[in-house]
Amino acid sequence: MNTEKILALAAAQEEHMTAVRRELHKHPEMGWHEERTTDVIERELRAMGLTNIRRGFRGTNCGLICDIGEARPRIAIRADIDALAVAFEDNDLEFKSEVPGVMHACGHDAHAASLLGAAAVFAAMKDELPGSVRLMFQPSEEQATTPGAKAFIAEGALDGVDAVIGYHVRAGAPEGRILYTPGPATTSGDIWELDITGKGGHGSRPHEAVDPTVCAAQIIGALQTIVSRELPPGKFAVISIGTLKSGSAVNVIPEKCEITGNIRTTDPAVRDSLPERITRIAKGIGEAMRCTTEFRFIPVYPSIINDPAMGKLLEAAGEELFGTGRVEQVPISNGSDDFNFYSTERPSIYFNVGMGEPGTPYGAPHHSPQFRTNDAILKTCAATVVGTAIKMMEAKK
Ligand SMILES: [Zn+2]
Ligand SMILES: [Zn+2]
Repeated sequence: MNTEKILALAAAQEEHMTAVRRELHKHPEMGWHEERTTDVIERELRAMGLTNIRRGFRGTNCGLICDIGEARPRIAIRADIDALAVAFEDNDLEFKSEVPGVMHACGHDAHAASLLGAAAVFAAMKDELPGSVRLMFQPSEEQATTPGAKAFIAEGALDGVDAVIGYHVRAGAPEGRILYTPGPATTSGDIWELDITGKGGHGSRPHEAVDPTVCAAQIIGALQTIVSRELPPGKFAVISIGTLKSGSAVNVIPEKCEITGNIRTTDPAVRDSLPERITRIAKGIGEAMRCTTEFRFIPVYPSIINDPAMGKLLEAAGEELFGTGRVEQVPISNGSDDFNFYSTERPSIYFNVGMGEPGTPYGAPHHSPQFRTNDAILKTCAATVVGTAIKMMEAKK
């Protein structure tokens, strides 16, 4: 891997990446409305002479995939490009959001701009790559109900792809530091619903009714034993009750009680086992208390799983490019990213790039009106994805 060349090419892109990042920042677009954003990305790629472009997903004109070369191994790199609903941007910047109620408050403008910078580096190194790359400019990461990653996969984005790279800028972490978690990197997050049906009646005559609220109370208590009594110590899981709806009057025993909850875990096998465990306990207690139960599991996000071998390649690339100590292993994050859908399909690596510690302008949390992107790390992002992709190509050859 030609470290000097990658660093020089990435540094040469810095000014232009910064300009593009600020242009996108000024015109943020929410998930599946990234028309203008995709226009900018297409314009930039075509200006680099890249023509193997596929645009428009999920029946929209949003999102774009660009291939550089045809050879295998082929490494895909994902940049999410959507903004989110934030009432107003509380930053005094000449390029602050011009769209009321919408802001790039997660840094996806930096992802789009830095992947364009990486595209220029790849294009310049096209003939010396030991494989090829697929750049995936993906809409709608923030919309949990219509994740862009799922649409991309359904429409063939991973066809002919051997491994996937994803990255995210991180506020409140040291500038330029590369952070990743080997194995499960985020918790999974899923929703469940449980209806408990009894028989309504007068509050004064419980013997003529079947009370679903008392049954729900027993079920809620017993569900706590899944984590404390059924899972081995050391396995991480959270089972939380989000809502409990029962009854409408003080002297009425209701017919039905509705519970919703969420579950989070780091272990795919535990995740798979939880719906059965909740159903069994709810059904058993329901029967014991003369109620019927209906359970619904709504899968939302699996965990991002970082392939350990890919993690080592990221570390190797980071060290060669920036010296020792720049790549740091960190504990699992409670956050989520729809990159998880890629990581269940292909060996993957997902990492963060720090923008600045708390107390700097880049310490404000993601999704806050004060969130700010540090343009100084765009070249770090670009060089790191190029270096890691090349390492992966060499390893998969
Ligand atoms: Zn976000
Ligand atoms: Zn984000």
